[in-house]
Amino acid sequence: MTKRSSYHHLPVSELQNAATPFYYYDLDLLHRTLDEIRRHTAGLPCRVHYAVKANGNPRILKEIASQGWLGTDLVSGGEIQAALDAGFKAREMTYSGVGKTDREIRLGLTHDIGCFNVESIPELEVINAIAGEMGKVANVAIRTNPDIDAHTHKYITTGTADNKFGIPIEMLDHVVGQAIAMPNIHLKGLHFHIGSQITTMQPYVMLCETANRLMDHFDAMGIHFEMVNVGGGLGIDYEHPDENEIPDFAQYFGVFKRLLKLRDGQLLHFELGRAIVGQCGTLISHVTYVKENRGKKFVILDAGMSDLIRPALYGARHLVQNMTTTPGDNSSLEHYEIVGPMCESSDVFAGDCLLPETRRGDLMAIRSAGAYGESMASCYNMRPLPASMFSE
Ligand SMILES: *Cc1c(COP(=O)(O)O)cnc(C)c1O
Repeated sequence: MTKRSSYHHLPVSELQNAATPFYYYDLDLLHRTLDEIRRHTAGLPCRVHYAVKANGNPRILKEIASQGWLGTDLVSGGEIQAALDAGFKAREMTYSGVGKTDREIRLGLTHDIGCFNVESIPELEVINAIAGEMGKVANVAIRTNPDIDAHTHKYITTGTADNKFGIPIEMLDHVVGQAIAMPNIHLKGLHFHIGSQITTMQPYVMLCETANRLMDHFDAMGIHFEMVNVGGGLGIDYEHPDENEIPDFAQYFGVFKRLLKLRDGQLLHFELGRAIVGQCGTLISHVTYVKENRGKKFVILDAGMSDLIRPALYGARHLVQNMTTTPGDNSSLEHYEIVGPMCESSDVFAGDCLLPETRRGDLMAIRSAGAYGESMASCYNMRPLPASMFSE
């Protein structure tokens, strides 16, 4: 019996003739993923915001916007504009980031975005002043750094005390007091975002406990929040993209349903990026050469770290598959290092990869590349940005 192909859903013959490298997006999987989120948030007074920085491809944004029920989480003026262009509603936008410029704040206020997630007192003062000049009141949440270690890579941990994000808990009373006293600020609630590629529920359990404790604390002071934003960060299965093509949303939303004590009328916000788009994207490339150095075999692709920087930047691992060889044929397996063509030693997609014998011209798939792939692409080495192709 032949083993089921693990890339059966990729239209190999169609992709074979397209110029590589490019991102291939399975829109059916994107929609099934969104359907699952909708199913598991039914009955919860919440709104899910898509974190645009995970993938800002205009077609992807349009597909998500056309659903009509998702807001956006944005981290720059460019993203605010892209989300507006795609048809997302300004009042369902949240805007995060430690370095919002005056121009970006003005852009947000011009469109009356739903919430600025404020990360410092200087930022709060600037938003208040600019809103005052414009005759507006800015909706604000205080991004709180709960000092929870999400146990992911140090570059994608954001909720511990020693990094630049958010406001430490011990300063919250002061910042909340300041925000309430400012005439052009409307304080909506607290915001948290503890990291990315989080695959156990323990950090979210701790986040719920911290949020409950803080809301009790402020309730006792007569300060009631209309909204609490628990951020995003839910991870995906990079090793088994076919077995786990959709994250376990039942478990994830279940934690908040069970543990977070929402007040009457309070709205819960989520900001998911990777969990929405990660599995629907595949980086497609051809093998340019296979070479051997001192007994080590290298597969050199026409895709490089300029197209997908995650392995070089975070030591991230993506499943690499040879789509030209027969699926399930394990008769001639070899160990290969899969590398790009670029002039950097870190231009490596996979250090030791067991693949059927691979040849020049073979079509290769780098899986689970829908999040922080195309959106992080650059023109380093004067390479063109990767193209994109869609399943429908
Ligand atoms: C990046 C980011 C997210 C989304 O993170 P994922 O790990 O992709 O879910 C959510 N909120 C904020 C503030 C972010 O910066």
